[in-house]
Amino acid sequence: MRLSYSALDTFKQCPQKYKFQYVDKISAPKSKEAIFGTLIHNALKFFHDPQRIVSPTEEELLSFWSENWAPSAFTDSREEAAAFTQGVLILKNYFAKNSPLQFNIMALETPFEAPIKIANEIHLVTGKIDRVDKIENDLLEVIDYKTAKKMPAQKNVDHNLQLSVYHIGLANRWPSIKQENRPIKTSLYFLKHGEKLSSIKTNQDLQFAEQNVINLLEQVKKAHGEEKFPPQPGPLCPWCPYQQICPVWKHKFVEQKIFFNDQDVKALINEYISLKDEVDERAKKMTGIKDTFSKFMDQENMERLFSDSGFIARQMVQRFKYDPLLIKDILEPLGKWQEILKVDETKLNKAIKELPYDIRQKIEEARKLYKEYKTFSISKTKKKKP
Ligand code: SF4
Repeated sequence: MRLSYSALDTFKQCPQKYKFQYVDKISAPKSKEAIFGTLIHNALKFFHDPQRIVSPTEEELLSFWSENWAPSAFTDSREEAAAFTQGVLILKNYFAKNSPLQFNIMALETPFEAPIKIANEIHLVTGKIDRVDKIENDLLEVIDYKTAKKMPAQKNVDHNLQLSVYHIGLANRWPSIKQENRPIKTSLYFLKHGEKLSSIKTNQDLQFAEQNVINLLEQVKKAHGEEKFPPQPGPLCPWCPYQQICPVWKHKFVEQKIFFNDQDVKALINEYISLKDEVDERAKKMTGIKDTFSKFMDQENMERLFSDSGFIARQMVQRFKYDPLLIKDILEPLGKWQEILKVDETKLNKAIKELPYDIRQKIEEARKLYKEYKTFSISKTKKKKP
């Protein structure tokens, strides 16, 4: 299999999006954020262009930005002006902190192939690295530019899968890196903040990354085999160009009434939400009444209350917990202990947060799907303030 890192990352984010983009090849317009990112990348490529003997001045860099700016990516003129200015600020800040003379750039926007072995088959994860520099002590530094607003925590950079894949790809391109076991500095440069976060991958980090990629590739292969690419809604859905055709969201964009078995579906949704509200309200009311009964029964020393409609009885319910060590001593010699053991998922999820990354990965790999069903949830539209 040959798959780009961005395809793999898209699959991880949402298999349905992966299907739209890489299987059905449905072209979608680039978001304004993606266009902005591409333009900034182009400007930095121009700034560091190794073909030029003399590096561009700040004025030339800003002229490049202005000449290549794409106002049509924005529908709102205020937003467009703000984005243009933000680009100017990013480039000015970058220019001030990054004199081309201080860098020994080996490659810009260079393609790579990271070979991943599964059983006896080699799979290739491909991509493009923004920049590769030679730094002190003959080390290489891989730099990926980011135009995201948020800067991640250092620990997320240390475990960043993309950077590990870059490392594997680079070591494949220049085999001496692997032979000499030379470390590679991998960095994410957050342009909006003018900050670079770096990490040096250990052999253990690389092994985990490789295992992670193997798991993802296997999931991709399985999804293709079963033709199952379920949507995975998440916080990035508002930026997904396929929202209007996605099974999770497309109904939101249907303006006219739609019917199923002669029933107006939108009216049914409203009815369902108001019924759910009624059920919740009644449940709250019943809890209040039960509370009153209890107080009255305690006061009058009664366990049953009668009316014309029937009676209410109060019973003591007891739940017991067994001492696990004692039960183990009893059942283990009888060969029955394993039969009753069950992992408590809630406790596991709580404990998992405190465990190191590699152990969390292993637990994640031990997870097996055993049941699948669909359930309903309600998300109410926020009422606009008058
Ligand atoms: S809108 Fe969300 S759930 Fe739908 S395809 Fe895009 S990312 Fe997936």
